Amino acid sequence: MNFCSQCGKPVTQRIPEGDARLRHVCEHCQTIHYQNPNIVAGTVPVWGEQVLLCRRAIEPRLGYWTLPAGFMENGETVEQAAVRETLEEACARVRDLNIYTLIDVPHISQVHIFYRAELIDLDFQPGIESLEVQLFDEADIPWSELAFRTVGRTLECFFADRRQQVFPVRSESVPPLTQPAK
Ligand code: ZN
Repeated sequence: MNFCSQCGKPVTQRIPEGDARLRHVCEHCQTIHYQNPNIVAGTVPVWGEQVLLCRRAIEPRLGYWTLPAGFMENGETVEQAAVRETLEEACARVRDLNIYTLIDVPHISQVHIFYRAELIDLDFQPGIESLEVQLFDEADIPWSELAFRTVGRTLECFFADRRQQVFPVRSESVPPLTQPAK
């Protein structure tokens, strides 16, 4: 952040009085610009034995497969965000949502939340952010072509839990990718 969204003047970084963290502060209008994690909400859309995945038409990770998910908007619930993203990315309608994975991604200040969900019908197609939308059996999941680790983790949990027919809520975190040693 370089400029104040309130008054347009340049901002500086400092620890405000009574705070413990570095913030963007506007010395002109005194606004403290707090930045907090973003929530990404999505679904595991299920049809019988199959799961619906979308191939991304946008960066990041263009061309890779993902569960339908995206940033939560102001004024909606996490569940509403998950349903909306499923509709936007896969033109798919889902019901019977159950919260399933809550995965912290602290190094990029995000929290990813996925719901298990039942597809209402097979009337789906790629939304504007998707190249393809397809149902996959477990054996056909393109594990090496998944867009995000939280998606891979959620799918791993899902297929493992399905064998037991028990789906506990999974709270996990994803560490930063380590650079290979030189
Ligand atoms: Zn300002």
